[in-house]
Amino acid sequence: MYIVQIASECAPVAKVGGLGDVVYGLSRELQVRGNNVEVVLPMYDCMRYDQVWGLEKVYDDLWVPWYSGWVHCSVWCGEVHGLRCYFIEPHSQDNFFNRGCFYGCEDEARRFTFFSKAALEFLLKTNRRPDIIHSHDWQTGIVPVLLSEMYHRSGMSNQRVCYTIHNFKHQGVTTEDVLWAAGLGRPDYFMHDDLMRDNFNPGAVNLMKGGIVYSNFVTTVSPQHAWEACYTGQGFGLERTLQIHRVKFDGVLNGIDYNVWNPEVDRHIPAHYNMETVQEKYRNKETLRDRLLLRKAYKPIIAYIGRLDPQKGLHLIRHALFYCLQHNAQFVLLGNSPEMDINAYFWHLKNYLNDNPDCHLEIGYNEELSHMIYAGADMLIMPSLFEPCGLPQMIGSKYGAIPIVRAVGGLVNTVFDRDYCGDRPPEECNGYVFNQTDYPAVESALNRAIGLWHHYPDEFRQLILNGMRHDFSWSSPGAKYLAIYEHIRQK
Ligand code: ADP
Repeated sequence: MYIVQIASECAPVAKVGGLGDVVYGLSRELQVRGNNVEVVLPMYDCMRYDQVWGLEKVYDDLWVPWYSGWVHCSVWCGEVHGLRCYFIEPHSQDNFFNRGCFYGCEDEARRFTFFSKAALEFLLKTNRRPDIIHSHDWQTGIVPVLLSEMYHRSGMSNQRVCYTIHNFKHQGVTTEDVLWAAGLGRPDYFMHDDLMRDNFNPGAVNLMKGGIVYSNFVTTVSPQHAWEACYTGQGFGLERTLQIHRVKFDGVLNGIDYNVWNPEVDRHIPAHYNMETVQEKYRNKETLRDRLLLRKAYKPIIAYIGRLDPQKGLHLIRHALFYCLQHNAQFVLLGNSPEMDINAYFWHLKNYLNDNPDCHLEIGYNEELSHMIYAGADMLIMPSLFEPCGLPQMIGSKYGAIPIVRAVGGLVNTVFDRDYCGDRPPEECNGYVFNQTDYPAVESALNRAIGLWHHYPDEFRQLILNGMRHDFSWSSPGAKYLAIYEHIRQK
């Protein structure tokens, strides 16, 4: 099958969070299964050019219709760790992708509408006719709209679109200006409740809603979150739209790429290990302590790795930090936020705790350090308020860092409590789970985990092995996506 991913991120060349990991990991899995996969991305000035091999300009004459004129673009091609990626570089005064950042600009909706339009125009003009176009999140939600309303008539009538939602909170709610910019026009037609009108704001266009309505199949990134999005308010206003399109909506759990996230081969960690040699993990713990200037004491290290977004339960992360320091444990945090006041708050916390030898806060994005932390930490905390899938708990399991998570979204599908496992066989339990969003909830889970580490090391080790044994690879999700592609191809 010929599959083209159109996305705003792809790890490691352009990664902000899980979206980047998923686009790369899924594409590689599909490739390994014998499919022809290409990825189309914006050519950001701030992307990791050192992660692209053989980057060269392959198309210099792409004229993308935009408002009543055209924008001249060049298209570059390079290989990102075995994956063929095309990068769209517009030459216009808007400088859409030369902003020194991936996201957070004022004209965000226009930037990514342009990218979506340019990606389709590239496929059209270069005679690429993929069986499946897979677009992701609000940034490329307009792809199925454009395909169905415009490009079907220009020779792309056999292309089918799978649309994956990684985060319902950001929907690309914007003005009807994007309709004019992309050449769709007709706001009176598109601004209909059944099409692209935002469910809350009757004057606004919702790009994610367009993606749901117009694509052939919609997925979100875990079965639990698919249900939450429909029925518990976690669709952030799109519940009704999802229910209307229920027959083409499903949850497929993300995987993790074991070529990247595998302590046996990870080139960012000094001591490699697997289930048989798990004691080697402790050499990584020592290295992590050296690097972060943590004291060498008989204590577990508990880590948080992730964006510092309110979605991640910031008050509970902070509380966990202080609880650990008071209860014979060390704490490491790696994260950042595009929001100045959140970053400032964590900088303040970092300065306040500067002299504490039992904790380290690293405010920023650091891929390499994240590998060291997964390998060196004993536990990983994820007290998310909502979490469509979550990758750190799966990566942590693979690296023997026990996940301590709130029972929400994909965390429910991937972490099974050691003490409350219900009918599940004990050897499948791989962490600790709590339900509420208050302090006692997170304290009780931490207390159980830290207690096991201190008093029952053999059982803690067993828990580590249970997690490492679990298959979180792309193998099963890859097969599910292929089944979806086959299903929509036959329509
Ligand atoms: P998100 O909500 O950001 O998509 P996910 O749990 O799906 O969260 O994915 C997070 C991914 O990003 C993981 O691979 C995690 O290791 C990585 N990550 C997040 N923040 C950082 C950071 N500050 N430095 C390095 N890696 C990070």
